[in-house]
Amino acid sequence: MHPPKRYPTRRVCLGPVSIGEGLPIAVQSMTATRTQDVEATTRQLRILEDAGADVIRIAVDNQQDVSALARIAPHVRVALSVDLQENYRLIREVAPFVHKVRYNPGHLHHHQPDQPVRDKVAFIAGQAAHHGCALRVGVNCGSVDPRLRSSFPADDSLGPMLASAWEHCSLLDDLGFTQYCVSLKDSDPYLVVEANRRFAAQRPEVPLHLGVTEAGMPPDGIIKTRIAFEQLIPQGIGDTIRVSLTLPFADKAEEIHAGRKILADIAAGNFLAETQYRQQGLEIISCPSCSRVENEAFVELAHKVRSATRYARAHRITIAVMGCRVNGPGETDEADIGLWCGPSFVNLKRGRETIGRFSYDAVLQRLTEEVDRLIAARG
Ligand code: SF4
Repeated sequence: MHPPKRYPTRRVCLGPVSIGEGLPIAVQSMTATRTQDVEATTRQLRILEDAGADVIRIAVDNQQDVSALARIAPHVRVALSVDLQENYRLIREVAPFVHKVRYNPGHLHHHQPDQPVRDKVAFIAGQAAHHGCALRVGVNCGSVDPRLRSSFPADDSLGPMLASAWEHCSLLDDLGFTQYCVSLKDSDPYLVVEANRRFAAQRPEVPLHLGVTEAGMPPDGIIKTRIAFEQLIPQGIGDTIRVSLTLPFADKAEEIHAGRKILADIAAGNFLAETQYRQQGLEIISCPSCSRVENEAFVELAHKVRSATRYARAHRITIAVMGCRVNGPGETDEADIGLWCGPSFVNLKRGRETIGRFSYDAVLQRLTEEVDRLIAARG
């Protein structure tokens, strides 16, 4: 099969690698260690580099993370990216060390709420331009700008995501900043496909970072991601990809191997996923974890949730398991049952309603009671 004709996106330079303009699709991952644990973070970076990562992202939330980044960055051999969430002003400290910064438009309202978003974006773009850094406008289904979310019907999740992406592209364009790409992530691969198709139709020149957020554990997480990539990449959409998987430390390279395998299969015309995915009932969404994870037992918890609920696999139930308070509350809202981690407890939710906090051991029993209740209620 001939490689798909790619959208005519512009080239964005990320230090040692560039994306867009028909260049090979770059494969990314993100460290899941505490950034301040320099030894563990460096070790995981090396695992990902050795696996063939083109770009690796690290979360930075505070000054201690910045200090750790300053020690880690000189030893990284691939393009290094930083993930900013609420504290967008940290870009001033991190930009000298990295090639790219991802900011989430849905988190800009937390700090300095009275300051216009336009000014915050001007600050971010100014720092990025000054240090020769690219940006990613990273829009995520569970943390869309609340101002935009409230201006769309409750059942329209794509409208506010796209509006947010388009708004931030316009803000960056008005500032004359062009070294940016965009991502539109959802845990539903079909929504990822639709969001990226609609975005690319309107802004075909903007490079896209593709990913299914909180895809979960392999093999289901890989299958779900394949569904999105197999539909988008043959249409020429996508300049860089990440397969987000919930994995133990030693297996982190699987994100890169899975990404390369999907790209190779698409190039060879091997399309696998659709039938496998549609056969599933119970769905477990889980984040890949990152520096913000509140307890290292998170990955184990996600696996225990899968084992404890296996008996319900024929039922159409969605369970979301998230690692922290930054994205946990929002990213579990659309699931039937949600769990998000605190330092020594797990918050359990039924839809948007909080049931309570439980210890890491006790939450599984309470979870299965909730699953049983849901099965009974749905007949
Ligand atoms: S939910 Fe929290 S711990 Fe998990 S990947 Fe997102 S920010 Fe990191």
